[in-house]
Amino acid sequence: MKQEQVKKLLNFTIKENNVIKALKLPQEIFLPLLFSVRYGGDWSLKKNSKKLMSVKEKLTNYDENEKIGYTLELIYLFVNPMLISEEGKVYRMEKCGNNNERELVERPYKLTINGEYILKATLDPKKMKIFLKHLRGPISFIGSGAYGASHEIEHLNHDEIKSIPFYDFEYIIEE
Ligand SMILES: [Zn+2]
Repeated sequence: MKQEQVKKLLNFTIKENNVIKALKLPQEIFLPLLFSVRYGGDWSLKKNSKKLMSVKEKLTNYDENEKIGYTLELIYLFVNPMLISEEGKVYRMEKCGNNNERELVERPYKLTINGEYILKATLDPKKMKIFLKHLRGPISFIGSGAYGASHEIEHLNHDEIKSIPFYDFEYIIEE
């Protein structure tokens, strides 16, 4: 990393710390959200007897006439997430950050969760801004948001993800 980049990264980290201070909550609470911003994906961790997770959804706005768009990232941070309801069963392949190989899992299609504290971050790549907003739950997710939340809640409650490995699949040549 070049010196100029290190400076900018430090500067960003200072701004991050200032935002966290302004929100008046313990710093560690924001870790999953900061990870989602920096590295992408969903995150969960247990810290000081708190369960923390972030769930990321993507929303692309595209102007057919201008032929230009942007993908908003909506990151939801939950402190002590509580599962309210789940609906449906979707069989799908997932790759966990802890694991190199993909695995077959079952996830709900819809899921509703609440949390002791919920913060929504909207990362706008066009404006280059990250908007933060405190939300009151419960929050419902459909599709990819539901799969991500279910995956992280499984980590928080059971550590291991229940799955079938890819090598149990069979190739079939179709006529
Ligand atoms: Zn995982």
